[in-house]
Amino acid sequence: MSFTVAIVGRPNVGKSTLFNRLVGRRLAIVDATPGVTRDRREGEGRLADLRFALIDTAGFDDIGGDALEARMMEQTRRAVADADVALLLIDARTGVTPIDAQFADSLRRGATSVVLVANKCEGAAGEAGLLDSYSLGLGDPVPLSAEHGEGMALLYDMLAPYADEAAAKADVVSAEAPANEVETPLQLAVVGRPNVGKSTLINRLVGEDRMVTGPEAGITRDAISISWSFQGRAIRLIDTAGLRRKAKVVGKLEGLSGADALRAIRFAQVVVLVVDATMGFEKQDLTIARMIIDEGRAAVLAVNKWDLVRNRRNILAGLADRLEDSLAQGRGLRMVTCSALTGQGVGRLLPAAMEAYDVWNRHVPTGPLNRWLHEMSERHPPPLARGRRVKLRYMTQAKTRPPTFVLFASRPDELPESYRRYLINGLRDDFDLAGTPIRLLIRSGKNPYAP
Ligand code: GDP
Ligand code: GDP
Repeated sequence: MSFTVAIVGRPNVGKSTLFNRLVGRRLAIVDATPGVTRDRREGEGRLADLRFALIDTAGFDDIGGDALEARMMEQTRRAVADADVALLLIDARTGVTPIDAQFADSLRRGATSVVLVANKCEGAAGEAGLLDSYSLGLGDPVPLSAEHGEGMALLYDMLAPYADEAAAKADVVSAEAPANEVETPLQLAVVGRPNVGKSTLINRLVGEDRMVTGPEAGITRDAISISWSFQGRAIRLIDTAGLRRKAKVVGKLEGLSGADALRAIRFAQVVVLVVDATMGFEKQDLTIARMIIDEGRAAVLAVNKWDLVRNRRNILAGLADRLEDSLAQGRGLRMVTCSALTGQGVGRLLPAAMEAYDVWNRHVPTGPLNRWLHEMSERHPPPLARGRRVKLRYMTQAKTRPPTFVLFASRPDELPESYRRYLINGLRDDFDLAGTPIRLLIRSGKNPYAP
């Protein structure tokens, strides 16, 4: 677990509801003895790919008066001291109360970062309270509905920097003590039509003759996974060539190898799609490429049997064109020409896979993203829809693996597909995101930061 988050605020603002949502299951409340107040709960919070320790400071409801206040403040102080970041919740439906202001005051004076969260913001009833909360002097509030799960992407955005910071600290630690580092392997799959050279290539990559290859489909045994390391990096590879045999028996080659590829793709983080350079892209190659994109995996294209190709430049240009024409997200996919047979070019494949993995994990900060959005819409404004221009208000990267962006716009249904493509291609080019599928979700709603 990388960092610690404390949820604080006065009773009834929704702290427990948010805690339960982030921890993902209802924890039993252990108030066995009457009069014993549970002051603090801890759990593992999850938000998309973020993992963090979560402290909830609920449970002050049953004491009153001065005792309540003093105790609550003391508990809050302790929880916040243990945390990297505190989420101060207010109830946007009620608006800012004096006790909220007291919380804000005491947090502003402390050393821990504070994110102001305006909860119960679903619908319109929270709008006034959201505006009101600027007065607390804690910066932009995150509009949230803990109960309905709204605003979680924005919350992600506010918390992601703490994960990055924790990761940077962990890097320093692991550089000092490399022996303690626990590395998770990069999950790799090699997929492609039968006979393009997958097995031969895997043998080259792994550097051992673990599998038998031959000209007739179906010679490879059903291998499941192979682990080894490359440049100090643990790699786990799944091989699915074995299913070809069954495919041959039932005579439904295309269908079965498709299901087979899909299984491998789901397992993988990075997928190497092997094509036969002498055949170019066939329908089945493109079907597999589309699966990789639909499943949101990072991809590298291995253009194999390069030793047999004469007119190399034409072949490569042809492949690139076909890729861009046939796949909306095919642009910029890394192509590595190689010969599994001679070994030529194979050495570039794993570095390319690691690069693709890094892009897949990339997080674009919100500031540059919104400056970029502004430029993109200045250069090429969204088209008019029924006489009015669709307004692009705010954008954030809600998630990585693959990079997933959320754009808030007025009347999102009226933003044409061509404009979505313009934005996706722009993201890919301007933030160097080639070789990974990009998700762009368009949501209605006001700019949450300038209502
Ligand atoms: P805590 O005392 O701060 O832990 O607050 P709770 O999580 O117990 O929530 C207090 C009340 O607010 C409960 O009735 C919740 O169902 C309700 N609540 C929590 N989150 C939301 C929300 O996002 N919207 C609305 N409308 N109600 C909420
Ligand atoms: P798979 O069905 O995709 O696993 O393909 P195999 O690895 O079994 O290879 C099919 C055939 O292509 C075998 O006869 C291989 O020797 C041959 N082959 C594989 N890679 C290359 C290559 O780079 N160049 C040439 N000339 N032949 C290759």
